[in-house]
Amino acid sequence: MAGVTRLDLAFAAPADRVLPDEADARLAGPRGKLPLTGLTQDELRAALSERGVASPAQARMRAEQIWSWAHKRGVTDFSDMTNIAKETRAALGEHFDLARPDVIDRRQSADGVVKWLLRLSPGAEAESVFIPDVGRSGALCVSSQVGCTLNCSFCHTGTQPLVRNLTAGEIVAQCLVARDDLGEWTAGPDARRLSNIVFMGMGEPLYNLDAVAAAIDILSHGESLGISRRRITVSTSGVAPKIPELGARTGAMLAISLHAVTDALRDELVPINRAYPIAELMKAIRAYPGLSNARRVTFEYVMLKGVNDSPAEARALVRLLAGVPAKINLIPFNPWPGSPYECSSTSTIKTFADIVNRAGYASPIRTPRGRDILAACGQLRSESTKERASARRARELQG
Ligand code: SAH
Ligand code: SF4
Repeated sequence: MAGVTRLDLAFAAPADRVLPDEADARLAGPRGKLPLTGLTQDELRAALSERGVASPAQARMRAEQIWSWAHKRGVTDFSDMTNIAKETRAALGEHFDLARPDVIDRRQSADGVVKWLLRLSPGAEAESVFIPDVGRSGALCVSSQVGCTLNCSFCHTGTQPLVRNLTAGEIVAQCLVARDDLGEWTAGPDARRLSNIVFMGMGEPLYNLDAVAAAIDILSHGESLGISRRRITVSTSGVAPKIPELGARTGAMLAISLHAVTDALRDELVPINRAYPIAELMKAIRAYPGLSNARRVTFEYVMLKGVNDSPAEARALVRLLAGVPAKINLIPFNPWPGSPYECSSTSTIKTFADIVNRAGYASPIRTPRGRDILAACGQLRSESTKERASARRARELQG
């Protein structure tokens, strides 16, 4: 795609920052086993008959049963699948993997936010964050990449050296780990705290759309976590050519990290703007399928002292969004070690919010959550380091 090539030329990270995607990562887990929770139900059906675990005639029914055990009840051991014959369970264990990634750190903030650091493969770590009392009852903020190649100047994740795409299974696993930890497998839908999912963790989801779309298919399925597509939001820094495709493939809600109303400033804050300037971005947003007052685009706007927070910019924001069903999230800047900005003052943020509100847009000021454990927006950064491919292979062979 022409746009993506342009973008890749402009923004691809130096080769030593990006691990090649493991082409077979969806298909080969530890010791060559398929990571089961990353498969859609159709993929599981195909895999069961290809691997001789179920006959083609039985594969559909078996896939439904197994999938429901894994995704709806959260079992991590084939022996718990009590309506499946013992020999079939043994065959499943030979071919498929049900293990969760290792939780290498868990922190709980004073305001109830929980942050998990997961080891996905040797040297590759990603974070997810549960934020209570948002959405219907609580949202899980998931990562779509380890690190991010995009280098937005106010974001900690962009400073991380290693970048690789997550697989669909690794995205789904973040939700399974959260459900385990929150003790929600047996809770009824109304008692669950994890009701919404936001792709606002590490990484640019539209650079990993295949895995993000597969993960949304899995997570929204009624025999899985059953989180409706309308409760799943994908946030992008503005990969314009992929925005309508995101809507068509996933039916998810759209969030745009706007942060500036002129190209000159946005080029500096969100450098992908040099490839897809604001006019092109707005055109792509207007083409997002299904927009209406009941399905608005969320515009995220980080408040940076003296940089993008003037009343004139608030008025320009209102003009820019004319005709788009929108809500605006004003995010107080969350500092991180060495960050080059300061957060706007409360009164400046209020003045900005009033202008946007008076123009008829909901513009909640997002209360920073989890700042004390570096779990707030833009503070995520793992210590992932690149491991030489040879060392990785040696380690996998041993393990
Ligand atoms: N890469 C995607 C999704 C992850 S970032 C994107 O950029 O949209 C989630 C949100 O946090 C984005 O709106 C991002 O711009 C914002 N953000 C990044 N760093 C921040 C910081 N230090 N303080 C407040 N918000 C920040
Ligand atoms: Fe990447 Fe989003 Fe951070 Fe920009 S704000 S560096 S796109 S994670």
